[in-house]
Amino acid sequence: DPAMSGGLHINNLSHDFDGLAAVQGVSIFVAPGEVICLLGPSGCGKTTLLRVAAGLERIQRGQIHIGKTIVADAATGLHTPPERRGIGLMFQDYALFPHLNVRDNIRFGIGADTHERQLWINEALKLMDIETHAENFPHTLSGGQQQRVALLRALAPEPSVLFLDEPFSGLDVKRRAQVRQQTLAMLKETGVATLMVTHDPEEAMFMADRILVMREGRIVQDGIPIEIYSEPADPFVASFLGPINILTGIVAGGHVVTPLGTFDATDFVEDDAVEILIRPAGIQLAAAPMEAADNLANGPKLPTTKQGFEVISARPLGGVSLVDFKLPEAGKDPAIIEARIPGNFLPDPGSQVIVNVNANETFIFKASGE
Ligand code: ATP
Repeated sequence: DPAMSGGLHINNLSHDFDGLAAVQGVSIFVAPGEVICLLGPSGCGKTTLLRVAAGLERIQRGQIHIGKTIVADAATGLHTPPERRGIGLMFQDYALFPHLNVRDNIRFGIGADTHERQLWINEALKLMDIETHAENFPHTLSGGQQQRVALLRALAPEPSVLFLDEPFSGLDVKRRAQVRQQTLAMLKETGVATLMVTHDPEEAMFMADRILVMREGRIVQDGIPIEIYSEPADPFVASFLGPINILTGIVAGGHVVTPLGTFDATDFVEDDAVEILIRPAGIQLAAAPMEAADNLANGPKLPTTKQGFEVISARPLGGVSLVDFKLPEAGKDPAIIEARIPGNFLPDPGSQVIVNVNANETFIFKASGE
């Protein structure tokens, strides 16, 4: 089996804490060179899964392979300790050794300090843009620099598998973007199989070859980032990946009619109660009535509502504008809909807008009844 020749295999892993099921029957394969992100809300079991796979917790049910080697097996009680699994670990609190300089922190844990490894460290320091700090001590570095040192320390022994738990959480927004980019370049350069945990959808979208969305101990969707965003498996995934507006409706004649337009609902049964989830970026607006459909503030010309809706507020976020408007027939629906419009589109509160909804940013699900 060629898939068995490298990477990380997690087979049917379950884990309880005092009867609480933290992980339930999860199987994951991470190929060499691949970055897989486990994405989910706090408490969904991401960290537990990582800790068991790394060997920081004894396995209770299931099996872990690294390459062809079984490193943990609940059935036989096999438990290879983390330091003998050929893995790298980098967790949220990546404590560097305070008494070792950057180079020695990275060198720590490499058995034979060969010339080749020294060259690797020099190259890696350059790639991560910290070569001028090689002889400095950790407390003199910024958070982002320390993070990059911690990553290199985890990679220096050439692990075949790398586990990252919220590796960028301590960094401010600007620094995070840069460190992510450098980290990703480094991971691709080394070809390590990476399993990373995050609760930040944007981070997962940026880093991952594949995203596994977790909820209550289970994987609820597995796909490439754009699939997870554009074809969410359920309302939970859709709303976890970004803000969402929710309308409700009843299917009639293969369609569902809402105040914001009529949507195709051929996948549903007549009279089904459905939820229509619309991303704020999927809404186009134009001032009503005089600009009408010719002047939508966003994107192509498409059929629009004839009716105008009252603007509640319009806020410039720099680059995009957030416009809230009111639905007249609120009924069970939320009274306020939020749109994200590229550029500056700042209609006065109280003025009217007409609306077009992009079907690509709209998801229809059977109403959960929750
Ligand atoms: P976070 O993002 O907040 O770290 P998570 O998705 O990583 O959340 P876990 O930390 O894996 O979730 O926790 C999953 C569940 O297991 C939670 O209900 C948590 O309270 C519980 N849990 C985790 N570790 C332990 C432990 N050592 N003892 C008891 N319960 C635990």
